[in-house]
Amino acid sequence: MGKIEGMAQPIASSWTLTGRWLFPVSGPPLLDGLLTIAGERIVGVEPRGRRTADVDLGEVAVLPGFVNAHTHLDLSGLRGQCPPHAELTAWLRQVVVYRRSATPEQIEADVRAGLAESLRHGTTLLGDIAAGGTSWPLLAEAPLHSVVFYEMLGLTTERARQSLQAARTWLETHPATNRCRPGLSPHAPYSVRADLFAQAALLARDYTCPLAVHLAESREELELLHYQRGPFVAFLKELGVWDGEGLASCPEAIMKICDQHVPTLLVHSNYLPLPASLSPHSTIIYCPRTHHAFGHAPHPFRQLLQGGIRVALGTDSLASNPDLSILAEMRFLYRQCPDVPGDVLLRMATLSGAEALGWAKETGSLEAGKFADLAIVPLASGAGCNPYQRLLDSDLLVERVLYRGRWIEPLEAGSLELQTEKSYP
Ligand SMILES: [Zn+2]
Repeated sequence: MGKIEGMAQPIASSWTLTGRWLFPVSGPPLLDGLLTIAGERIVGVEPRGRRTADVDLGEVAVLPGFVNAHTHLDLSGLRGQCPPHAELTAWLRQVVVYRRSATPEQIEADVRAGLAESLRHGTTLLGDIAAGGTSWPLLAEAPLHSVVFYEMLGLTTERARQSLQAARTWLETHPATNRCRPGLSPHAPYSVRADLFAQAALLARDYTCPLAVHLAESREELELLHYQRGPFVAFLKELGVWDGEGLASCPEAIMKICDQHVPTLLVHSNYLPLPASLSPHSTIIYCPRTHHAFGHAPHPFRQLLQGGIRVALGTDSLASNPDLSILAEMRFLYRQCPDVPGDVLLRMATLSGAEALGWAKETGSLEAGKFADLAIVPLASGAGCNPYQRLLDSDLLVERVLYRGRWIEPLEAGSLELQTEKSYP
């Protein structure tokens, strides 16, 4: 099939690719599985032998593009600059200093760098929290799907009022495109007053967009909410934004406010009291290497999964993580938690993130009808014949990325050197 007369876009013929292991995620891995693509979409996922492949990629894993459900691209300039600190407020001080001094040019350069790195690591769906929504213009043009969460801050009544107004204006002026959708991120319980959480949830409901909230990240946050004391009090006073009256009473109260209205991404939840009652359209976002670098207590993701709660992976920002690779997060967990099956980890790195971000009908797994978004990863030799082991017991990087049926050229992903240093565990 060539170009069809009268249509603006040529309709590509269907083509079939294969590789040693195809991981649909919605089903078990297929040895020498076949994936057929027409235009931007997947039209078939089949076991070997059903047809002849047009492209044989060899000893590789064919995976859905990775989903990074939580990052802050505008902090990419902080890589290696403020190593995670046992006391969260000490680390936050450094981030605030950077934020306050960054010029618009620096912010744009940071978003570009983070985007380029995300693409190189095979991310085809990204949830980005952006101060002022600044990453929108770049993400709306980038070869990946995204949700840009407009960050809201306001513990005092005056800051909350301004933040709500600004968020409303931003939503009015940023309708969803076919690859980029808006969301709201009332930042965290220590920076957002209880009634602003409620207003943000109602606004998100009106605009049918998701929420992302950093929740129960540290013991100090719980101390602040429960007793209005601890290091956050001095930190917030120092910034001139303290208002103890505005604080929510506990993380559960915030969960209840948010997820009764809209799908909510509860980011970190390191100290979420269990059993937490969550609505089925909420997701816990776990950032394994950042969690580890801050020295938190073990993350309750196993218990959450056992309780039927969806958990998806994020990298968080380069201010706390060595890179923006979801594959690296998955491999880190594989080594830390050998009891967790490979298929569970891969789902957390793909489909669960797509469900959290509201993109699961379009991407996140290899199924007919979804966009052909793929990450191709060379498979380690000699790592046994278990396909998950060959993928995860390895340091081989993403080799190629397909977005909506087209290979992304390395040049499109930017000219930054691939960062593989391991400055944090
Ligand atoms: Zn974050």
